[in-house]
Order: sequence, then structure tokens, then C-alpha cells
Amino acid sequence: MNAPDRLTALSGISPGITIRAEPRPPRADWLCRCGRHERAIGRDAVIELASRATVTHCPHT
Ligand SMILES: [Zn+2]
Repeated sequence: MNAPDRLTALSGISPGITIRAEPRPPRADWLCRCGRHERAIGRDAVIELASRATVTHCPHT
């Protein structure tokens, strides 16, 4: 089992980006395919994260 799978099992969220508009402020959680997790809080931060987050490409390496 590799790191992303283990992290997914622990957090209960799937790899990829999850955006929640409520409750405010809006927030986004991004679980990269490399296992790295990033969180953005606030509309501008969510938009910025969503523009960077992809499921197929990892920008961390
Ligand atoms: Zn990554």
C-alpha cells in the first residue's frame, strides 16, 4: 500500500479536490496523487487552489 492510499483511508476523502461552499467561509481540500494535502479557506484561496489542483499531475515533485 502506498502513501496516497494510506492517507485516503485515514482521511476518508478521495484523491482530488473537494470544495465546500457551506458553512462559510468556503473551503477546498486537495489531496494530491502524491499524498500531499492542501487546504484553502476563503473564496480567493479556493479559486487559486482549484486552478492549481489536478488529479492527474503532481506539481510537488
Ligand atoms: Zn503532489
